[in-house]
Amino acid sequence: MQWIDVHTHINMLEMTPEQALASAAEQQVNHMITIGTCPDDLPVVLALAQKFYPQVGCTLGIHPHEAELYSAEIEKFIRAHATAKEVVAIGETGLDYYYNNAPKEQQIHAFRAQLQIAQDLGLPVEIHTRDAEPDTMTILRDFQGGKRGLLHCFTGTWEMAKVGLDCGYDISISGVVTFKNAQALRDVVKQVPLDRLHIETDAPFLAPIPHRGKKNQPAFVTHTAALVADLKGVTLETLSAQLRKNAQALFPKMAFQ
Ligand SMILES: [Zn+2]
Ligand SMILES: [Zn+2]
Repeated sequence: MQWIDVHTHINMLEMTPEQALASAAEQQVNHMITIGTCPDDLPVVLALAQKFYPQVGCTLGIHPHEAELYSAEIEKFIRAHATAKEVVAIGETGLDYYYNNAPKEQQIHAFRAQLQIAQDLGLPVEIHTRDAEPDTMTILRDFQGGKRGLLHCFTGTWEMAKVGLDCGYDISISGVVTFKNAQALRDVVKQVPLDRLHIETDAPFLAPIPHRGKKNQPAFVTHTAALVADLKGVTLETLSAQLRKNAQALFPKMAFQ
C-alpha cells in the first residue's frame, strides 16, 4: 500500500522536510504535494519540490488570506515557473470569508486570475473555500469542464460538493473528518464517488484524531485513510489503489513509481 498526501505545507512543519519525508515513508506515505501560499514561500516550495521530486511535487499560488499580495509580478512568476515538471498544480487559491483577512473583492480577483492561469496552462488547481459557498459556486461554474482540480480540506455542504463535482473538481478530505463534531462531513464523504476522492493532511494544521491538538505531519494522513475506508465500506488496500489512480488522473505531473 502507498499513500499520497495531496495538500501539505512541509516548509511550515516543526520538523525538517527530511524528517517529515522519513516519518511519512514509515507509514507508506510516499508522495506529497507541498502548497504555495504567499509571495515569500513560492520559491521555497519550488526548491523543496526540486530537491525531493518525485516524492514531493509543489503548487504555486496565493492563498485567499494573502490575496492583497496578488500582483502582475506574482502572476508573471507563477506563469514562468509553473511549466517546471515539479509544479503539479496551481494554488492554493479560493475564498475565505470566515477569516476575511483580505477584502472580498480582492479575494475574488485573485481567485479568478489563478483559475485563468490554471486553465491557460492546463494545470489542476487546489482550492480553499470557507464560509463562501455561493461565490465559490458562481466562480467554479465559470471555470468548468474536464478535470479542473480539487476542493481541498473540504468541510462544506453536499450542495457545494455536488457543484464542485459537476464542474470538474474532486473532493479532498483532511483530518477534520475524524473530529467528533464532523458528522455532517462524514455524511458528505459517503456520497462522494470513490473515484473523485483524495486525502490530505494540510499539515502542520488540523492533526487528525488521535493526534488532535498536536502539530500535524504528512505521516498522519493514514488516520484519515482509515476513517474514509470505513465510511466507504472498502478495505485499506482498495482505498489506497483507488486514491493513487485518482491522484494520477488529476495530477499527471506527479510521477508515481
Ligand atoms: Zn487551505
Ligand atoms: Zn493549505
